Formats: sequence, structure tokens, C-alpha cells
Amino acid sequence: MGFPSAAVGQRNGCMANSSEHIRADSNIPMSLSGSCDCGAVTYTMKVCSLQVYACHCLNCQTRSGCTFAEHAMVHASAFVCEGEVEAYCREANDIHFEEVVCRNCYTRLFNRNSLLPGTIFLRAGTLFESERLEPIAHIWVKRKQRWVLLADGVPLFAESPTPEEFGAAIALADARGKDQRPQSSA
Ligand SMILES: [Zn+2]
Ligand SMILES: [Zn+2]
Repeated sequence: MGFPSAAVGQRNGCMANSSEHIRADSNIPMSLSGSCDCGAVTYTMKVCSLQVYACHCLNCQTRSGCTFAEHAMVHASAFVCEGEVEAYCREANDIHFEEVVCRNCYTRLFNRNSLLPGTIFLRAGTLFESERLEPIAHIWVKRKQRWVLLADGVPLFAESPTPEEFGAAIALADARGKDQRPQSSA
């Protein structure tokens, strides 16, 4: 499926209770925003930090028609989306999945599922200034297209990492100062 499960998204909601891996300025929420291609749907969120990961699973390749997908987990309570959307819904392993698109231009904006109802899986390429993003981890690399070369030192996972493994990847990124912080508009 291609997403790390469980509580790893909590930092995106500024709810971390362990501050040793959080950079000094990262407890100040920043406002990030993005939109679909036609501009009919926009979103904003207030987050302390944003950890983007790349998923190379076959689902992501097929649904994007591309090599991999860039996701970031955001607390639903911190995320505001405006404009008309519709969702492609499917069930797998008793989990309900929704892939939310702009009703006009069908840009994929985010996913959500019944397993983690408080989490938005943002399609990070829709962020304004997405050129500033750099994944903190690559997952499902066993399905990675062979021509894609990955940066040294970025954690790789053959499939989906455990929450603990993903948490370690976040800590590593923090330690290296690779926390994803596109310029805030706030
Ligand atoms: Zn995937
Ligand atoms: Zn649109």
C-alpha cells in the first residue's frame, strides 16, 4: 500500500511530546498551502514540520502514471481544503481508502483511510514550492524503477516501514537538518 502506519504523523500536528529531535524553531507552526492544477481546489495547513517520503510501490506508480509518489502525513485537524472535490473509494483488507481529487481537473490532492482517520496523506507535489521538498525516506524500493538513483544517506525500506523505523528516519532527517520546511507564508 505504501504508507507508514500509526502514530508517526503526530509531529505534523505539533503534538510531539519528545523534543530532542525537533529543531529549535520547529515548534512554531508554519502555514503551507497548495492547489490542484486548475486552481479550483486549494488547501492550507499549519504544521510544525513536514516529512515527505517517496513511495515506489506499484500502486503509486500505476495511479500516478509515474515513477513514484511523494506523500506527507498531516493531521486532519490542521488541514483545510476548499473547493469541490470528489473521491475515488476502494476497500482493501477491511480498510476504506479514499483518493481525493479536484472535481474539475482531477488532480490528485490527498488520500485518507479508515485505519488512520485523523491523518491526511497529502500528495506533496501539489504543494506550492514543492521544488524545495526532499524525501526523508524512500519506501517500497523493491518496486523502484531501476533508473531512479537515490541520494546517499536517505533511509530506504524494501516495503512499508514500521512506525518505529519511520520515526527513526524522521529523527535522522532532523539530525541532518533535512527537516522539510518550504518557505512559510505565515
Ligand atoms: Zn505507494
Ligand atoms: Zn482543479
